[in-house]
Order: sequence, then structure tokens, then C-alpha cells
Amino acid sequence: MIGMHEAVADATQLGVFFGTWQASGPKRAVASPIDGREIGQLMTASAVDCERVIAAASDAFLAWRTVPAPKRADIVRQIGEALRRDKEELALLVTREMGKHIREALGEVQEMIDICDFATGLGRQIGGLTLPSERAGHRLMEQWHPLGVVGVVTAFNFPVAVWAWNLALALVCGDTVIWKPSSKTPLSAIFCTRLAARVLSENGVPPAVASLLIGPGREIGDRLIEDPRVALVSYTGSVATGRHVGVAVQRRFGRAILELGGNAAVIVSEKGDLQQALEAVYFGVIGTSGQRCTTTRRVIVQESVMPRFLDGLLRLMERTRIGDPREPDVHMGPMVDGAAVETMMAAVAAADKQGGRVLHGGQRLPLPGGCYVTPCVIEAGNDLSIVQQETFAPILYVMPYTDIDQAIALQNGVPQGLSSAIFTKDLMEAERFTGPNGSDCGLANVNAGTVGAEIGGAFGGEKETGGGREAGSDAWKAYMRRQTSVINGSGRIELAQGIRLSV
Ligand code: NAD
Repeated sequence: MIGMHEAVADATQLGVFFGTWQASGPKRAVASPIDGREIGQLMTASAVDCERVIAAASDAFLAWRTVPAPKRADIVRQIGEALRRDKEELALLVTREMGKHIREALGEVQEMIDICDFATGLGRQIGGLTLPSERAGHRLMEQWHPLGVVGVVTAFNFPVAVWAWNLALALVCGDTVIWKPSSKTPLSAIFCTRLAARVLSENGVPPAVASLLIGPGREIGDRLIEDPRVALVSYTGSVATGRHVGVAVQRRFGRAILELGGNAAVIVSEKGDLQQALEAVYFGVIGTSGQRCTTTRRVIVQESVMPRFLDGLLRLMERTRIGDPREPDVHMGPMVDGAAVETMMAAVAAADKQGGRVLHGGQRLPLPGGCYVTPCVIEAGNDLSIVQQETFAPILYVMPYTDIDQAIALQNGVPQGLSSAIFTKDLMEAERFTGPNGSDCGLANVNAGTVGAEIGGAFGGEKETGGGREAGSDAWKAYMRRQTSVINGSGRIELAQGIRLSV
């Protein structure tokens, strides 16, 4: 029997969906970074397709916003159930398409299921406040209404989970979604859109509620973010593109959630558990081959434990098994493509030129497909320009510190502000790190690494990371329109602030 995964990966696919599948843009091939082999052919979107999708999602919104939120949530629950059934198949496709280890791909699909579960409960909780009015016989209240069409632009490294984070909340909130996935991961996006379309049509809902638009960012992405019918743009990607997206959306007074690059650091205190710190830093570097926004890019180690820490870290690095990410005993798969490898090599050379010292790795491996590298450890100062940037690769910069204030200053001393961590058993240090003059990041962990956020909390970061929040907690509020209402049951007109009108 041909599974859904094979059906998606082996025939020519249409990269546009708004109730029907069609695409009139250029055709292109999709290759796997595992071995460089072609795994599919794809028809991409044209400008005409883009217009059709935005029009269909806008129409679908008019009906979808009137469906009661608990009913919308039940449909999200069914999407979660469908994901449970297809979990292995989708994970395998993600692994084939972008190269993350199958363990991590299964975790990514689990995250999609988790957010559907979360959003199902949310369907009965997106309530507003009733507040005391200063006028007798008046009621003052806030309501949350559906917002409109949400354009979801996603990065290659979490090719399906970020869509689900947005889709689950947006659908429960009564919005419709147009997904523009990374051009590097189109097949996974088609798989997910088919799955959602099936559930929507079984429930008699217009399938354009979850539309798809695959095409180049500069052309198709730009049309989406600049269109005033798209009320909210949820953008995940690099700082450079995010800066462009943020300005374009603001120019038309649209709303944007920006989830941009990181430059995460772990502080390892002499008062922490060194073994736990080692494990967390190691996975933080090699997970997804260093291509997570929360990847540990810097480790700031107290001088007294630096020799022991480095010794342990280099031993772990040497034992890293690199290869086919579908093999259970492999630790690290390929990078996403040849260009990513080139970027990594250029960063290693730049670090060397700027005065860094390579302690381990940073080489290409002669494996099929040409996307395999050894993870790299470099001794480097925080002020090197290469350290200040996010290189989306498994490179770790190591630097020493003497006291906690200096460590926190180093951790905060980069333009990005997504994820951070400290390993310490000292309550004062932990409090200092998580307090108002501690880490300036959106995520600040104690005795847990920088990667692997749970969906229950709001996810996002500060400074050049963009300030957006998505997933759990009250992140749903960004997907709704807040309305403040006064209802006057007093039988007479009374102005606020005691102003009297003589009529
Ligand atoms: P990228 O910036 O190259 O692309 C991201 C998306 O933007 C893609 O879908 C791309 O097609 C689209 N795009 C490109 N130009 C566009 C334009 N002019 N208008 C609209 N869309 C456009 O990023 P990438 O290489 O796919 O992903 C890696 C980056 O994403 C890293 O910087 C990483 O830190 C970041 N990221 C951040 C988070 C987070 O939550 N903060 C999560 C995952 C990835």
C-alpha cells in the first residue's frame, strides 16, 4: 500500500490550495539533503494564484467567524487526532525533506498535536473582562472578536510545527490562515494542508480556512505581507528578512508577530551540575544540526570549571555519530542544503581570522549529498563580529567569566534576545538570572538548556528576535480584535468624567 507520505513525495505536486489544488507558477524539483536525491516535483504559485488564495481566505473568514468558538475548537481537536494517526508518516517526510533526525521530527509532530490539544481547551476560554463602570447602571466590558486572514510565513527548520502553532490558535479565534512555507520544505506543507483540508471538508467548513501558497519569498511572500486583506502576518525567519517584513506590514498598519533569529547562550557556574550542563549544551549545539532558533551558540563558563567543562564537551563532540538521520544510533544528520554548509564554512574561517581558536570540528564530510559537517567548538571573545551574528549551523563559541554580573552582561551582549540558560544550584544566582536585571531574553531557563520549549508557555524573544509571542499562555490575544463596550441600562444619558451637558 502506498502511504500518504509516498503519495506526496513521489508525484508532481501543486503548491497552491484554497479549496481546490492548482498552481500556475514555475515547476521545480525537491531534493533530500540526506543523499541529494530528488524526492518530488512541485508546481509553485504565480501572482494570479496569490490573488485567488487571498480572495478565497477572505471570503471563508466571513462564514468561519460566525461559527461558535467551541465548535471551531472541536475541528482543531479533529486536526490533532488526524496528526496523531499520521505522526510517523509526517515525521519521516520532514526528515527526508530537511534532514533533521527522525527523533526530533517525531517531537516536532508531537508539538503540533500538543498545540491542537491546548487550542481545543482554549475554545471555551477566550473570554473578555467585565470591568466596573464609573457610571451607575452602565456595564463596561471587553470582548475578543475574530480578526481576519492570518498570513503565516514559516522557516525551513521547523517546517510544520510553526504552522500548527499558528493554525490551531487562529482557527479557534475565528481567523482563516494562508500558509507560505519555506521553499525548502514544500512537501511537508502539502502533506499538512491535505490533512487539514480533509478534516475541514468532513465538517462542512470551507477548506480555504487553511490555505496554502508555495512560492519564492521575494515574490509570493511579498504579495502576501503587503496585502491589506491580511490582517495579521505571523512571520518566522531570519532577522534580515524579518526587518523587511516588519516594515512592510507596519507601513499599511497591519499587525505582525515577528519570530526572528537567536544567539542563545548557556552560563555554566561552578555552583552548577557540570554533567547536566554538558548534556544540555551538547544537544543544544548538535540538535537539528545547529539549525534551531534556540540552538546554543555560546557557552559562558566560570573560569574555575572551564578545563573540566571543555574536556567533557570535546569528548562528547568526538563521539558524535553523523549520518543518515533515519538511523536510530546517529546523533546528527545533514544540514538543510549546500548553501547552509558554505555559510558554516565561511563562519568558521571568519572566526579564525578574527582571532578565535578552533578546538574541534568545523569540517565538511564526504558523504552522499554533500550536506554533512562536523560540529564545531571555537574559543572566541563575545565581541567578535562573527559571534555577534547568528550563523545557522552547529558552531559553539566558548568564553570564560569570573563573576555572575559579568556572565549576564556577556549573555545579554548580543543584538538578539531569544533563549538563554544558567546551570547553577545557587538560589541567588538563579534569581539574579531570571530577575529584572538578569537575562534579557524571551526564554530564560535554570538547569535546563536553551532548546526544546514547551507549547504551554508563550514563545518568542526580544530585541532583534522581533518581540513576537506565539503558542501557549495568552498568545491567542494577538489573533483577535479587542473591543471595549459600554452598555447603558440606566435609562438616561450620563457622560464619563462627570461632564454635564445642558440640553
Ligand atoms: P529565511 O528568512 O530565509 O526565510 C523564512 C521565510 O521567509 C521563508 O518562508 C521565505 O520564503 C520567506 N521570505 C523570504 N523573503 C521574503 C519576503 N521578501 N517577504 C516575505 N517572505 C519572505 O529563514 P530560514 O533560513 O528559512 O530560517 C532560518 C531563520 O529563521 C533563522 O534566523 C532562525 O533563527 C529563524 N527562526 C526563528 C524562529 C523563532 O521562533 N524565533 C523559529 C524558527 C526559525
